[in-house]
Amino acid sequence: IEFDGFANAPDLDYAELANRENAARAIDQVGNNLGQTYQPIINGNTVTAENFVDSLNPSKSEQVVGKIGLASIEQADQAIAAAKQAFPAWKKMSATDRGEILRRAADLMEQQRAELSAWIVWEVGKPVREADAEVSEAIDFCRYYAKEMERLAQPQYRHVPGEDNTYIYQPRGIALVISPWNFPLAIAMGMSVAAIAAGNTVILKPAEQASVIGAKIAEVLIAAGLPAGVFNYLPGKGSQVGAHLVKHPDVHLIAFTGSQEVGCNIYAEAAILRTGQKHLKRVIAEMGGKNGMIIDESSDLDQAVVGVVKSAFGYAGQKCSACSRAIVVASIYDPFIARLVEATRSLVVGDATAPDTKVGPVIDGSAQAKIRSYIAKGHETGKVALEMPAPEHGFYVGPTIVTDVAPDGVLAQEEIFGPVLAVIKAENFDQALAIANNTPYALTGGLYSRTPSHIKRAYQEFEVGNLYINRSITGALVDRHPFGGFKLSGVGSKAGGPDYLLQFLEPRAITENT
Ligand code: NAP
Repeated sequence: IEFDGFANAPDLDYAELANRENAARAIDQVGNNLGQTYQPIINGNTVTAENFVDSLNPSKSEQVVGKIGLASIEQADQAIAAAKQAFPAWKKMSATDRGEILRRAADLMEQQRAELSAWIVWEVGKPVREADAEVSEAIDFCRYYAKEMERLAQPQYRHVPGEDNTYIYQPRGIALVISPWNFPLAIAMGMSVAAIAAGNTVILKPAEQASVIGAKIAEVLIAAGLPAGVFNYLPGKGSQVGAHLVKHPDVHLIAFTGSQEVGCNIYAEAAILRTGQKHLKRVIAEMGGKNGMIIDESSDLDQAVVGVVKSAFGYAGQKCSACSRAIVVASIYDPFIARLVEATRSLVVGDATAPDTKVGPVIDGSAQAKIRSYIAKGHETGKVALEMPAPEHGFYVGPTIVTDVAPDGVLAQEEIFGPVLAVIKAENFDQALAIANNTPYALTGGLYSRTPSHIKRAYQEFEVGNLYINRSITGALVDRHPFGGFKLSGVGSKAGGPDYLLQFLEPRAITENT
């Protein structure tokens, strides 16, 4: 394979003692720096908020990770004005010059890898190995979109006698980026730098629970040399400041990742033409999933059990790509469950800052209560084969496996976003495929099988944006596994893929009569 200028940043190898010691040191150091105040940054300046909210450590919920200054509506309007003012100069800068700044940002994150991972561990309760992989992904997004924009910036020519045709892309304008808490660095950085690489200016409204990491993104981008106003950091309430910005007539593009409910609402609001608005807004909305993995009778159960456990319980099931349904054919149903339960039992549940933790807490008290209510439904409607105990002092939910779940039941249809796996029995592969496709979502899916005809049918018929065969279904890599779904999992083309930047650009065709 020819090298095209992009290679994924490697994750740290924690089998190396030095890397483990370094991670522990960084976690301690960041732990000594909790509780600072983070304010909005508009036009390169820190502004003073009137209202504050605490971002808590999900592993120890009494611990304040940062005090977040919530931007007001007036400050949101100031951010729009700053992004508008910065746009003409940023638009004119070459893709290579813009890319250089993003590559510097990537290098800075590489240097600050241990510290950034530690902030992720503290603020959103993600165990360090997964936090480190998230830093790699954020680095990859910077380098990949820088390279992609250099490719797209090359005009395409078509000359015929008497006529010169040129096809080019231009940026859209002001991009509003609204990000979720579960990949607080990678997703917020990815959507922001895609817009920036393409020549747009950005307002980032991070998820409330991940606003300290949002501030770290601002630090990195500013240190990399981004001109004032090109990137504005605007922590605030989604339902107030976020909703206000979605409706703002000067916003050209909204890049959203989060829940289906909020995404659909943004899609509808953005479609309304407001007074003074001279364009239609482009909305990219990456939303939830109800991802299924099919285990057929020919699968290698050793592999399948490990893959399902990793996909279902990694980051406590709080990845949009997580497996929340295991669809198992009848002939191997009982042995699969027996092994799945035993393998899951071996997971260490606890504080995300501890090096041996495999399953940390969930993000907050309301997520914990919601997940517990689904477990209660599991007791009513299925058979709870495993409900692991969990520490009391943070937002923990023990990994839970509910078997004999009806394919149309609540546990098989609604996104739980926690460490709860529904196991569904299928008579055969045909039925398994039908069950897998029978949700409104189409994000990720998996198949464990050694039957070529089943694998071939999955290629053609398994309705998901990212299909994984004989491996886990989480951990998409930029460029290698462009990521994103369809149906009610989202509108927009895949993050980290060759079409993604096109959404941030307007194509233009110029014809000159010669
Ligand atoms: P969420 O509740 O939808 O929030 C996402 C963002 O939207 C937050 O920044 C939130 O701000 C903001 N927001 C809330 N209400 C808003 C409104 N009315 N107008 C504008 N913005 C508003 O989602 P989440 O809990 O952070 O993330 C988990 C969800 O994201 C899951 O459904 C998961 O599947 C999905 N996800 C999808 C992908 C993908 O690639 N498809 C990737 C990751 C996550 P506040 O925090 O201030 O409320």
